[in-house]
Amino acid sequence: MRLYDTYTRAKRELPPPPGPIRMYFCGPTVYQRIHVGNAVPFVLPMWLKRWLERQGYETKLAINITDINDKIYDAAPGASARLANDASRWYIEDTNDLGLGRPDVEPTATETVGDQIRMIEELVAAGFAYEVEGDVYFRVTRFSDYGKLSGQRLDKLEEQEPNALKEDARDFALWKANKPGEDTWWDSPWGRGRPGWHIECSAMSEKHLGREFEIHGGGLDLVFPHHENEIAQSRSLGHPFAQVWMHNGMLGRGGQEMHKSLGNDESLRNVIDTWGRETLLVFYLTGHWRKPLDFSDATLRSAATRAEGFRDVFRSAHEPATDDAWDRFAAALDDDFNTPEALAIMHEWRDHDLLRRALDVFGLASLAESDEAPPELVDLARRRQEARAGREFGEADRLRAEIEGAGWEVRDSGGGFQLVRKR
Ligand SMILES: [Zn+2]
Repeated sequence: MRLYDTYTRAKRELPPPPGPIRMYFCGPTVYQRIHVGNAVPFVLPMWLKRWLERQGYETKLAINITDINDKIYDAAPGASARLANDASRWYIEDTNDLGLGRPDVEPTATETVGDQIRMIEELVAAGFAYEVEGDVYFRVTRFSDYGKLSGQRLDKLEEQEPNALKEDARDFALWKANKPGEDTWWDSPWGRGRPGWHIECSAMSEKHLGREFEIHGGGLDLVFPHHENEIAQSRSLGHPFAQVWMHNGMLGRGGQEMHKSLGNDESLRNVIDTWGRETLLVFYLTGHWRKPLDFSDATLRSAATRAEGFRDVFRSAHEPATDDAWDRFAAALDDDFNTPEALAIMHEWRDHDLLRRALDVFGLASLAESDEAPPELVDLARRRQEARAGREFGEADRLRAEIEGAGWEVRDSGGGFQLVRKR
């Protein structure tokens, strides 16, 4: 199995099964309900885990919850802990409704502060970091590989986290002294404060996966500075850290990336409630994980049509697929996890067993569930058809409403009708 690696800018071969394949994906910063774009770095690793396990791998997946961050302090001055707690619960509820299960571990920044402080102490002792009035900064110029992941040149680098007292404007914060209005803090060798965002992920990933692990992922917007800084922190201590860096393309709307700050975000909750989880998952499948994905009514409608196409296969007769069908599907996923190609292959199939097995990789086995309407509803639909034929449209509408009240939709087709379960 090969995956594209941002660090080497090439597809990299994974070790053979059973691995293990240990994966860390940067999860949400919890200060609002997550939007459909934030859900991509949840859906992608959950699918990847399911696929790797079917291919004989042992896996361990960690997706963290960033519950200490400037964004949370800004969103709820004086009450950030409460907001982080609520938003963590919303995140778990909303991603549960995707029906893909949970990662093996979901560490939070707050429960890992002790590990983060120990790591910062080691960096200070080794000369990679220094204290300024209760803040601790990483000396970017001390780490010779700085900029390799993102392709940034050190001499072109702009200031991160302004502070006139830093040795070098490019240095980034490992620890920040407590400021007025920040309602959470921890005691440390540098006084009361809280960790910087990047050290949280270095500490959480190594705590659960070890000093060397196979895959680190997140959105493309995290390459710089977040992941560049994680690499600097961990590798300057001699830890090999992640071997393959996966960065998913950003979800956009009308050519613009989806961001809360742009006001064009759509919550995962709303999208699941409006379109259903199956349509949303099929929508995610239509894009290659490295490419941008366009969220619109048209692309969601198209995904709904595809999902309905799969249900139709199970309403029609089974036709055995050719012998190489599964191998073609597996080859698409094993070559950089190409879900649009896998999806195209699945659309060719009328083989119920194979299609059910493939859909199950993506949490979509429900599309294969039997859709036989109960006889009393078939009777109502028949009476509705007679009413229509007799031009009794009021009665026909009443019968349609009764059928819909029972959770089914009646569709006119070829002089007859079809009953389809509502989703
Ligand atoms: Zn992270």
